[in-house]
Order: sequence, then structure tokens, then C-alpha cells
Amino acid sequence: MRLVILGGGESGVGTAILGKKQGYEVFLSDFGKIKDNYKDVLKQYDIKWEDEKHTEDLILNADVVMKSPGIPDKVLIVQKLLAKGVPVVSEIEFTAQFTKAKTIGITGSNGKTTTTMLTYHLLKSGGLNVGLAGNIGKSFAWQVAEEDYDCYVLELSSFQLDGCFKYRPDIALITNISPDHLDRYEYKYENYIASKFRITSNQTENDYLIFDADDEAISIWLQQHKTKAKLIPFSLTQTFENGAFIKNDDTMDIIINNEEFEMKTEEVSLEGKHNMKNAMAAASVAQLMKIRKQTIRESLSNFQGVTHRLEKVLKIQNVQYINDSKATNVNATFFALDSMTVPTVWIVGGVDKGNDYTELMSLVREKVKAIICLGVDNKKIIDAFGNVVDMMVEVDNMRDAVITAKHIAEKGDAVLLSPACASFDLFQNYEDRGNQFKVAVQNL
Ligand code: ADP
Repeated sequence: MRLVILGGGESGVGTAILGKKQGYEVFLSDFGKIKDNYKDVLKQYDIKWEDEKHTEDLILNADVVMKSPGIPDKVLIVQKLLAKGVPVVSEIEFTAQFTKAKTIGITGSNGKTTTTMLTYHLLKSGGLNVGLAGNIGKSFAWQVAEEDYDCYVLELSSFQLDGCFKYRPDIALITNISPDHLDRYEYKYENYIASKFRITSNQTENDYLIFDADDEAISIWLQQHKTKAKLIPFSLTQTFENGAFIKNDDTMDIIINNEEFEMKTEEVSLEGKHNMKNAMAAASVAQLMKIRKQTIRESLSNFQGVTHRLEKVLKIQNVQYINDSKATNVNATFFALDSMTVPTVWIVGGVDKGNDYTELMSLVREKVKAIICLGVDNKKIIDAFGNVVDMMVEVDNMRDAVITAKHIAEKGDAVLLSPACASFDLFQNYEDRGNQFKVAVQNL
């Protein structure tokens, strides 16, 4: 069997190693440049590859193709493969057939990484032999090829799910759904929603689907479609006989299969309503995986959070600086602003992804004292909030943004970087943006 891999990054190289070990004839092709460290690995495993081109003759004769999630279906070589009827699958789909491990698949528009890391932390603290993969760290394929675990927590983007056809997670989790990446879905929101729900399409009566019952898109989909999985909803406003909810305004309560777990919300280390949802979702997984209640409690209270997500950087002259650079859409920023408890100087902007700022209006009125616009698409932000806040400043680099924020902020205020936009106008990526923020704050 000939396995062709398109894309020589983490998932491509991992799949090549796994394919080789499983006896496939493997060829890897990348239209861009493959990093030297990956080339070394390919050589070490004696895997044939090419970069900066796609040689059709070497690709179209594949029996199966693994396509990296970053490559859209519309590129010519993929179109040709599909026209020929060659199966084009994702790394997750290809890999899942070679492990007996249980998998917990986590998807959603926001909160995937936080919920995945927290779930992993809970299961690992509970003593399980668990791997962490998907969009995070070492690829799933690579881990299955080299070490393999009893179970995996997988962060799954919609692009990974688009290439899944038989993959069946034992536990699927959808954090929430709001419009994102619509350029990859013919600008149709329903296509993007359908992509997220692929996570449950092969689940059976023995599997579970954990989901945000407050989420409109999720609720509508569940009314209109069927899944065989057992449903575990979580919510901040509703209660359930089987599910996760808030009791008496101050207690997280999770009842699953007549087992109850309770914990005061103030004991959960992550802050903000959205993180309470992430905590309920992760704790539901832990309960299903039979982790001891005491361990769940301890792990939810000592989880350190993930960098660039509402990360407290420093307090300087009693002003708290917070890095939420990963907020690349309006919904993520909504929850960042919602979690602010003091007057806030808000650094916002970048590359607009078709943002609609109206849902932020009342939060901005209530919490934001000044806006610092940092990006190419400032006009929409200025139009939306120009009359709402006392002060609006435009800057063109992070250092100036932070210094300006320092001048405006008074004792007891916060400075929040939560851009609601993509970062590639002024920065390499959201990590670079967040790191520049942190350096600028440290230099104050
Ligand atoms: P993802 O991996 O889905 O991008 P992250 O955990 O990296 O999610 O968080 C991305 C952004 O969304 C951060 O700004 C974070 O503060 C915010 N966020 C985290 N969880 C949620 C949630 N449940 N709902 C909305 N926003 C969230």
C-alpha cells in the first residue's frame, strides 16, 4: 500500500513514521520548505520525501493520502486526488486505526486548548497513562508510532475533523461554536457547524458527547440531528439530572450516571465564566474516566492555566497586565472582557476576520475606560466604540501600545491585550504578539 503525505510538518512527519512502521511504502511531499530537523527525522527513518514542489506522478498513484490540516481541499493536487477517487484523510483518521487507546476528542471554536490541557492535567493527576496530542505538541501519529498510551486527549480543529470518516472518540467534547474560519467553508456557517459535529458521527451507544447546552448553534444542531452517543450537557444557567451545572450560584455540580461531584466555584483556579464551562467540561471527562473526586478537586484548583489565554503577566504600580493574545475572534474577547472586574484599558485590533463588534458594546460601556487600537483594521473598532469610551488611541507597535496603556491606567485598573483579531499584520503569530506584550510589560 502506498501512503502519500501532503505537508511535512508535525502531523505529516509523524504520519510518515507511523506509516513506515506499519509497512506502507511512504512518500512525503511539501509544496513549501521542510524544516531541517524534520528532514533529519525523515532521513533517519529512510522515508522518501520532496519539498518546494508536488510531483504529480509520485502523488497521484497513492492508495491513501494523509493531508495536513493546513492544506485546503481546493488546492489543485488535492482536487486531482479526489477526482481520481483516492481517499484523502487527516492524521487523526489515519492514526486512530493503529491504536487501541481510548480517545477523548475535544473540539469547538474557543476553549479547545484550555479544555484539552485541563483534561489532560486531570487524567494524568489521576494516574492514567495518558497522552496529549492533536493540535498540541507532538503529533498523535508520532506518539502512537513510538510510545503509545492507554488513552489520549486530542485537541481537534475542524480541519482535522474534515478528514475524519471512521474515527470514533470514546468521549467527544464540543466546547462551543461561533463563526470562525468561514473562508474554508464557502462562507457558510452551517458547513462549519457540520464540520464540528463530525466528531460524533461514528459514535455508538457506549460513547459520550459532552457539550455546552447554552450554545445556540449546538442546541439547534442537536434538535435537528441524531447522535447515538449518550449526551452530557454542561451549562451556567440550566440544571440537569445527568450533566454539569451551577448550583446555588456558587457550586459546580456534576451528576453523571448517579455519581455526584460538587466543588465551590471559587476554588477553581481558572477565572471567568468561560473557564467555569471549560472546567465543567473537563471534570465531566474525568468523572467518566473514573478519576477520584479528591483528585479532580485538587487538579481543578491547582491548574496553572495556559499562556496567552487570560494570562496574568505582572502587576506594576497596582495595575494588572493581562495577556489574552490567543483571543483571535470576538467571542473569545467577549469572555475576556466579561471576566474583568476593574476598569480596563483594552488593547485590541489586528487583521479583521469579518468581525461584528456589536455583541461587545455593553461590556465595553461597563468595563473599558480606554481603547488602544493596534493593527491594520482599526477603522471598524473606532466606528464601533468611538463614542462609547472616553479615550481612543491608535498605535502601530506593541511597545507603544503598552507604554500608552501605562500612561492611561490608574491604580487598581487593568491593562488587557485581547485583540479579537488575527495577528499576522504586525506579528508572526499570536504567540509572537503575546510574547512582545510580555516583554514590553517587563520593560516598564
Ligand atoms: P482554542 O484552542 O479553541 O483557540 P483556547 O483555549 O486557546 O481555545 O482559547 C482561545 C481564546 O478563547 C482565549 O482568548 C481564551 O481566553 C478564550 N476562551 C477560552 N475558553 C473559552 C470558552 N469556553 N468560550 C469562549 N472563549 C474562551
